Order: sequence, then C-alpha cells, then structure tokens
Amino acid sequence: MAQAEIGLIGLGVMGSNLALNIAEKGNTIAVFNRTAARTKEFYEEAGDLKGRIVPCETIEEFVTAIRPPRPIIIMIQAGAAVDQQMELLRPHLEKNDIMIDAGNANFRDTMRRFDALKDSGLTFIGMGVSGGEEGARHGPSIMVGGTEDSWKRVEKVLTSIAAKYNGDPCVAWLGENGAGHFVKTIHNGIEYADMQMIAEIYGILRDGLKMSASEISAVFGEWNKGRLESYLIEITATVLAAKDPISGNAMVDMILDKAGQKGTGKWSAIEAQNMGVPATGIEAAVAVRSISSFKAEREAAEKILGLPAVPELKVADRAAFLKDLESALLAGKIGAYAQGFAVMSAASKEYGWNLPMPTIAKIWRAGCIIRSQFLDAITSAFTKTPDAANLIVTPAFADMVKETDGALRRVVSAAALHGLPVPALASALGYFDSYRRGRGTANVIQAQRDFFGAHGFDRVDGADSHHGPWGSGLNG
Ligand code: NAP
Repeated sequence: MAQAEIGLIGLGVMGSNLALNIAEKGNTIAVFNRTAARTKEFYEEAGDLKGRIVPCETIEEFVTAIRPPRPIIIMIQAGAAVDQQMELLRPHLEKNDIMIDAGNANFRDTMRRFDALKDSGLTFIGMGVSGGEEGARHGPSIMVGGTEDSWKRVEKVLTSIAAKYNGDPCVAWLGENGAGHFVKTIHNGIEYADMQMIAEIYGILRDGLKMSASEISAVFGEWNKGRLESYLIEITATVLAAKDPISGNAMVDMILDKAGQKGTGKWSAIEAQNMGVPATGIEAAVAVRSISSFKAEREAAEKILGLPAVPELKVADRAAFLKDLESALLAGKIGAYAQGFAVMSAASKEYGWNLPMPTIAKIWRAGCIIRSQFLDAITSAFTKTPDAANLIVTPAFADMVKETDGALRRVVSAAALHGLPVPALASALGYFDSYRRGRGTANVIQAQRDFFGAHGFDRVDGADSHHGPWGSGLNG
C-alpha cells in the first residue's frame, strides 16, 4: 500500500468516526491509539474501508506509514493529554511535519503549542471540529488555524471530509495559530445562547400557556419550516415528541432539569470579557446552566421565596402570541450572533488573525450544531458590508431587528409580568436598547468616578475640562 496521506491518533468517539470519514472519501489513513487493543478493534470493524486504513501498534510504525510532510491529527481528550501525546510524538517527526490538535482545546493552549514549535521546523494546527459524532462520520464543519503552508498540505483531505452546503465545503483556513480554536469556542458559545433561548420559549409555552410537550413539539416543527429553520429547532421538535418507553410520558418530562457543560461556553464568555465586548446572550446561557445544576438549592429556595405572586399568563389571541414568540426567538438569535461575531472581530484585531467573517458564517451553514439557513443571511451581510461595526447595523439585519424587536419586547415583558424566567431573551433586548441609543447614561457613571477618584471626563461640547465642580469642593 502507498504511504498514507494523513495520520490520526486517538480512536475514541470522535477520532474513529473522523478516521472512517477520511477513508470513505478515498484517502489512505494511518491510525494509532494509546491502547493498542482499541486500534485492532477499530480496524476489525472498518469493513469495506479496511483497504484504506493502516492500523499501527507503535508510534514508529505509525510515523513511517505517513507521506512526509506528515499531517497527524490528534483527536484525544483536551488538555494535558494533548501535551503528553505531542511530547511522545515529537522525537519521531521530521522537518515540516504537522501536528494537528482536533480536540476542543482552549485557544490559549493552542497559541502556546504553536509558539513552542515555532523554531523547531515542525508546525502545529489548531483545528475546531463541530458536529459531534455524526458530523465527524459524515461531514463536520472544520475551522483551521495555523500557517498557510500547513493548511495547503491538509486542504485536500479536509475538503473531502467536510460537510457540504449546496456543494460548498464547510472547512476553511481562518488564520494563524489559535484562530481555528478561537472561532470554534465562539461557535460553542453561540450554541449555548441558541439552546438557552429555545429553552426559554419552551418554558413560556409549558408554564405560561400550559401546553404539553407534544403540542410544543408541533409549534417548533412548524417554526422549522420558516425563518428559524435550523438543526437546533428541528431536534427540539424531535426530542419534545419522544415518549419515555418506561413511563409512557413525554421523554422530556422525565429528564431532570439540570444541564451539563464542558467549558467552551464559559471560555467564550471569558474571552468576550477579556476583549471588552458584550456577549450577554452567551453569559446568560452559561449562568443559567450553572443555576440549573443547583437543583436542591432551587427547590429549597422555592419553599422559602415561593414563586412570584403574579397573574397567570392568559393570551387573547393565541396565534398572534405564537407569532410573537417566533419573532422574539429570531430577534434573540440575531442578538447572540451579533455579539459572537463582534467578539471574533475584536479578537481578530487583537491577535492579528484577519478572520474572514463571511467565510466563518459560510462554514457554519452545514455540519455543525448551529447550522441553519440564517447563516446564509450573515454571510451575505458581511460580504456586502465587510466594515460594518456590528451585524445589527448591516442593512438586512437592521431591517430584521426593526421588524422583530417589538415582538421581543412584548414577549420579554409578558414573561416578566408572569414570573417566567427569560434571561437570555431579556439580555438581547437590553443589548439592542443600549446599542441603538446614541445618548446613554454613562455620563452619570463618569461623574461619579470623577467625584471619588478624580479621573476627569470628556465634555459634550468638546470644551477642555478635566474635572467637574462638585459642590463642596471635594474634587472641584
Ligand atoms: P473519547 O471518546 O473519550 O476518546 C478519548 C480518546 O483519547 C481515546 O482514544 C483515548 O485513548 C485517548 N486518550 C485519552 N488520554 C490520552 C493520553 N493521555 N494520551 C493519549 N491518548 C489519550 O473522546 P471524544 O469524545 O472522541 O473527544 C475527543 C476530543 O474531541 C475532545 O477534545 C473533545 O472535547 C472533542 N470533541 C468531542 C465532540 C463529541 O461530540 N464527542 C465534539 C467535538 C469535539 P484510550 O483508548 O487509550 O483511552
């Protein structure tokens, strides 16, 4: 057999599916796993694809099996395991070989690994892979960060395995060093916000309108035929329709209201804060997942505080209210994506990545968890107005905000008046209302700061003034 075009280490859930995808698309791949029994098992189960898979028991054998310069995908647990694996691999590699971390790395680790290899002759790619197990097997969305030369070496294989949207491959080189993993992190942050807002709308339908899971499923199913069409809305309709085989109840009603998190949502919120860019939708989503985990504490609090003494939600025109909920969800989504793209734009400047925003939206249109037709509109908006300060001031999105924010306002106020929590949707409304107001209220904050700290301020009339005359002469 000719030398393999690429190598892959780590035959866990993601790695084995990615390896099968690579082989299926006509590429020869060498594979290695820390536990050799797993390599054997994987190969035995590869069926017709065996002919393009080279199973290797030792690192030496593995490295020799790949055509130089060798691209080697490392798809193992993120964190220290990646550093350990890279150390074991490094002595066997030659000039221009490329180690590719395809796990969910923190982009700061990616930057460090990239820098550590800079003068060694070896290169490093940080590659975000989205779409879970199914995506890895049949077509993920792939976000690549590294040198352009190393990208050229892997472009053909990655293009062959990526998801396709109307024929366009959902993979791109996004910039140097940590660019790919940073974009993947923000993707996951947006995913948190998207999921949270869907859950808030579900809460209004369940606790406000007292609808059953199957009735709510039908609503989401209907919305999936319109502007909200997306993988997340589709699977929401599906999970709400599922029945529990044990109790016969709706499956979703048998699931404890505690959501887990692996950290990428939190990283997005942290990086947004580091960048000084608001990402209130992502922050709200991360906070709600944390609150969800305090189940016992919430139950105790409900006994002490009770639910708010507010009237039950009653709507005169149910069809109109459902239309409002659909529009409010779209508005909230616009807010979350606008924030995520604003964070990436700031990071792009900070780290000199020159992130291609229309391309990022393009490669998220298929393969990944937040895939949707909505991303087509984002691609188009950033292509037409590449210098827009924010997605919501591009002509198409400004129109969408103006069209939907009334519904968002009605839904958030109805939820507030009836004691239904909508922190992410409310954050989107707060974001729009703050961002669109030319004259804000920070003048009073600046006056307070000057009063107690003598920081000085800028005057509205542009005249020279460094401190205010604050009465008692404290700082005057
Ligand atoms: P997994 O099924 O738990 O597999 C983990 C793999 O890592 C196994 O092959 C394991 O080898 C290997 N490994 C663990 N520690 C190691 C070490 N110190 N040295 C060498 N190999 C080691 O994990 P997974 O779900 O495939 O996830 C892999 C990566 O993809 C993670 O970074 C994850 O965050 C990311 N990711 C996962 C998903 C998803 O939906 N699962 C989606 C996107 C990204 P052994 O067989 O020897 O234990």
